[in-house]
Amino acid sequence: MSVAYINIGSNQGDSHAVIEQAIALIEFYSRSAAVRSDYITTAPWGFESQNEFQNIGIAIDWDKSPLELLDTLQRIERTISPSPHRDADGLYIDRVIDIDIIAIDEEIINTERLTVPHPRMHLREFVLKPMYQIAPGWRHPMLAASPKELIERLGC
Ligand code: ADP
Ligand code: MG
Repeated sequence: MSVAYINIGSNQGDSHAVIEQAIALIEFYSRSAAVRSDYITTAPWGFESQNEFQNIGIAIDWDKSPLELLDTLQRIERTISPSPHRDADGLYIDRVIDIDIIAIDEEIINTERLTVPHPRMHLREFVLKPMYQIAPGWRHPMLAASPKELIERLGC
């Protein structure tokens, strides 16, 4: 059994409602009750938009493989909203729902479909602050730092 740390974000539509729907589906497929952070509101990261993001971090128990978790989360994303996250040039655009795997215990995974810990987690306030709430004792296996130390390094 592993603990998976997941971040869910939305900046389009009824963000809180779609995030709650995503959490309910993740709890159903993982057969586990999510430990959850508060919601965090931030400006879009990596692109320009008027619509602020709502994000939340959750921790769940996961007893299948990491790729099965990615498959499950991608299926949930498509169930909630089939629209793409990037435009034709590959640039970020507004999205109804984005579900990312932030970490699985303190494992390191580097495959074509899945990188864990998430490669940009240490650059994102909306990932680090929820992670600090739900997993203060977790340590980044490559950066050798806790969520609080990563927040201090980012200066947010
Ligand atoms: P982003 O999450 O960077 O905003 P997308 O959701 O559009 O962008 O990117 C999804 C792609 O990222 C998928 O093809 C998936 O295979 C890949 N990916 C790699 N590592 C992860 C991870 N830790 N969590 C979620 N998706 C990941
Ligand atoms: Mg994603």
